[in-house]
Amino acid sequence: MSRLVALTNRMQKTDKIFVAGHNGMVGSAITRALQSAGFSNLLKRSRAELDLADSRAVSDFFRKEKPHIVIFAAAKVGGIKANNDFPVEFLTDNLRIQTNVISSAHENGAGKLLFLGSSCIYPKYAPQPIPETALLTGPLEPTNDAYAIAKIAGVKLCQAYHREYGANFISAMPTNLYGPNDNFDLETSHVLAALLRKAHEAKTKRARELMVWGTGEPRREFLHVDDCASACLFLLEKYDSPEIINVGCGEDITIRELVALICEVVGFDGELTWDTTRPDGTPRKLLDVSKLRGLGWQPRIALRDGIVRTYDWFLKNIAQ
Ligand code: GDP
Repeated sequence: MSRLVALTNRMQKTDKIFVAGHNGMVGSAITRALQSAGFSNLLKRSRAELDLADSRAVSDFFRKEKPHIVIFAAAKVGGIKANNDFPVEFLTDNLRIQTNVISSAHENGAGKLLFLGSSCIYPKYAPQPIPETALLTGPLEPTNDAYAIAKIAGVKLCQAYHREYGANFISAMPTNLYGPNDNFDLETSHVLAALLRKAHEAKTKRARELMVWGTGEPRREFLHVDDCASACLFLLEKYDSPEIINVGCGEDITIRELVALICEVVGFDGELTWDTTRPDGTPRKLLDVSKLRGLGWQPRIALRDGIVRTYDWFLKNIAQ
């Protein structure tokens, strides 16, 4: 059956699909997208049920279940501060879980595997927009180089399985994502979730100021996680190359513009203050998405709409 998936390159609605990391922001979005597309044979395991860092447990799970398709959306992720403060955990945890899942997928005959990376794998001063060919052409941004090295190793492992064994293991590199199930913890989150929470709390406490990290000058590209999930399903159906492929919307904005948009959506009209003791990170990381667009995929959720939807989710699920 798994061989059939690889040969026909068509997902069957009955294929057994393992979404590693199904409780996370990306994994839960992919699970929703699979379910609404009619895929009903989904394997899900919480961290308590299956610790992906435990190689024996992962191997036993794959031997028993033999999923046809594996989507690797499990990772230790975090914003600029968490990545900068905990490089050991970002490197070792990610190396462990991805190696366990990718190798067990191969050993148990998975017909296709989608490995999710990140736009931070590219060099700090990569040409903008960043083409896939920029990988490994220059030094990384130091604030997240540990995570980036782990993700690059994951890409290389998938490519190695393809080269040595002909495995249909593909790798997608999403840009900065946001949406439901994002992490809203101010110390460890990414910028969009952090600023949504800060703006909301400043509004509800009638604070006069909102503190933003860095200079506001860096530019970032933001993609709603439901668009990312749609791109993942598209790639599972249509993409069979071991070459990495970027997933983004093709537009970026400054952090200054982002915070203005968030304040407008949330309804906070106080002052912004800038904590320039905090790092800016990479100056810009806009992905070149011409390869994905050329295959016929494009995003549907405009940034403002996506922020409105995410704020709504935050109000219902996180805000007290
Ligand atoms: P990055 O894309 O890997 O740099 O990670 P982040 O999403 O954490 O940060 C993006 C940019 O937003 C950086 O320049 C941060 O300094 C800036 N930023 C501004 N305010 C915040 C905040 O409250 N939290 C975070 N995480 N970043 C912030």
